[in-house]
Amino acid sequence: MPETYDAIVIGSGMTGGWAAKELTEKGLKTLVLEAGRPITPEEDYVEHVPVWEMPYRGMGNRKKIRDDQPIQGTCYACDEWSAKFFVSDKEHPYVTPADKPFRWIRGRQVGGRSIMWGRQCYRWSDLDFEANLRDGIAIDWPIRYRDIEPWYDYVEDFIGISGQAEGLPQLPDSHFLPPMEMNCAELRVKDAVQKYFGDERRLTIGRAAILTKPHNGRAACHYCGPCERGCITRSYFSSVNATLPVAAKTGRMTLRTHSVVHSLIFDAKTRRVSGVRVIDANTRQTVEFHARIVFLCASSLESARLLLHSSTPEFPGGLANSSGEVGHNVMDHIKFGGARGTIPGLENRAAKGRRPNGIYMPRFRNVKQKHPAFLRGYGFQGGGSQADWRRGFNQPGFGAEFKHAMSIPGPWAFEFGGYGECLANHNNYVELHKDKVDAWGIPVLHIQCSWSDNELAIQKDMAITAAEMLAAAGAHDIQPYTDTAEDPPGFSIHEMGTARMGRDPKTSVLNSYNQSHDISNLFITDGSAMVSSSCVNPSLTYMALTARACDYAVQQMKRGEL
Ligand SMILES: Cc1cc2nc3c(=O)[nH]c(=O)nc-3n(C[C@H](O)[C@H](O)[C@H](O)COP(=O)(O)OP(=O)(O)OC[C@H]3O[C@@H](n4cnc5c(N)ncnc54)[C@H](O)[C@@H]3O)c2cc1C
Ligand code: SF4
Repeated sequence: MPETYDAIVIGSGMTGGWAAKELTEKGLKTLVLEAGRPITPEEDYVEHVPVWEMPYRGMGNRKKIRDDQPIQGTCYACDEWSAKFFVSDKEHPYVTPADKPFRWIRGRQVGGRSIMWGRQCYRWSDLDFEANLRDGIAIDWPIRYRDIEPWYDYVEDFIGISGQAEGLPQLPDSHFLPPMEMNCAELRVKDAVQKYFGDERRLTIGRAAILTKPHNGRAACHYCGPCERGCITRSYFSSVNATLPVAAKTGRMTLRTHSVVHSLIFDAKTRRVSGVRVIDANTRQTVEFHARIVFLCASSLESARLLLHSSTPEFPGGLANSSGEVGHNVMDHIKFGGARGTIPGLENRAAKGRRPNGIYMPRFRNVKQKHPAFLRGYGFQGGGSQADWRRGFNQPGFGAEFKHAMSIPGPWAFEFGGYGECLANHNNYVELHKDKVDAWGIPVLHIQCSWSDNELAIQKDMAITAAEMLAAAGAHDIQPYTDTAEDPPGFSIHEMGTARMGRDPKTSVLNSYNQSHDISNLFITDGSAMVSSSCVNPSLTYMALTARACDYAVQQMKRGEL
């Protein structure tokens, strides 16, 4: 394997896949270093394996989860089928103060978490990019919607996003493939919300990176349902399904798996990163690779960890950290605020197929009117669902009558689950633990992060507005809920902010093109770059920023500036 490349990309997940595609398509000989194992869709994807073929009949190996994945196992997607896509908590420990739990959900394989993600994709708007400036929180974003808009178009045209255009300024429309259909409970709630709350609250179908018609050589979704187990028809977007195959086709990508990047190598003479040190996960040997530019795409907290672990005499507090902001300003989204209820009168209606998507209600708080209790806002995900045969299975009865009862679907229910914005706060941070190391001898993270009063006020409001909308829809048994114990930071799996962008190198790590202020040939394009968190799912924005940064880096190289 050659040791020198034009570019090195660290991580092959959502953002690493995009960096690999863009850099190789633009002509760069690119080495992608992935800590985890390779993925072979024909062997690893298990979305069509029926429950009766699973050793634990879908209930999972509870002892193994308890011993090896006690944190990962709390994630809905880490079930008996897909637990193999989540890390071993034993091999990948981290530490938190007892009173500040943080739930870090991770994947370590080719594709990273793009294999198990929920595929919800929403654009940010200037309501988000101007928020910090408007509210005097943290620092201002160095970009606005107009800067990223063409890159949203660009990545969406490749990915394929299904959804409904709504024309809302706070949630710009994407380039959509046809929307999925709403079910009868969702249409009932949509109509009621429209009637009682007018245009301020809009219920729409989720915007998802799932194909509703063939697109770029990938097949339309056939509604089998459990996407977190893989997708042999490549109908949802992941690095494995979409970006990495394109990068491989250029003939310019070398993908090296089992390659745990230990640290970045800084050349004090040129003040550039000259390459990376890698621990081969199989042999435990250390190898070095060199390149003209390095793209760090290891995910927000892992990228911060790598920078902190790559300190040098010039950067004693961590590489590219003259600002002191590396590892700080950790954000996630607050959830577990919402309500559920039963929607009566639809008992004779049944849904067909397993639509891999729910509804979305765009943010309506602090859009036109200022809310007295909190800054920013939240959007709702969730949807209508019908209790299925499993519910019938649990009912009393015997013989033919019991079998018949089992085949009658249960009542329709609806749930609104909020995702709320989290404010950037310097005191939410990660640092290297002084003694504890992971299975490869690399110091683990000490994560200190907690919700502020603003996030808790948002969560409370989610439960109230969700319940009032269900009441308007005539729902029965309405159960509003808020639950911080079940929702520590990290658990929305949208962690971000640890190497933020900004105009001033004294207060930010990256410039507006994800390029390190301190080291010109280092780019960080995962969630680390985020300056605020918006309330929408962030990965689409990470991908657009990655494609934009690649374009900028290659232009700089061509001009001889890099
Ligand atoms: C269940 C679930 C549902 C989600 N739903 C959504 C959703 O609906 N919408 C949304 O926007 N987001 C969602 N997310 C979040 C989304 O998956 C992440 O935002 C996204 O994957 C982040 O991309 P990334 O490239 O930064 O990191 P990842 O995709 O996690 O990839 C990072 C890669 O880097 C590798 N790596 C790490 N450290 C090293 C190292 N030292 N050396 C070499 N390689 C390394 C890892 O092995 C991994 O492959 C969800 C996540 C999960 C788990
Ligand atoms: S539901 Fe659609 S996108 Fe999900 S795994 Fe099945 S075919 Fe693929």
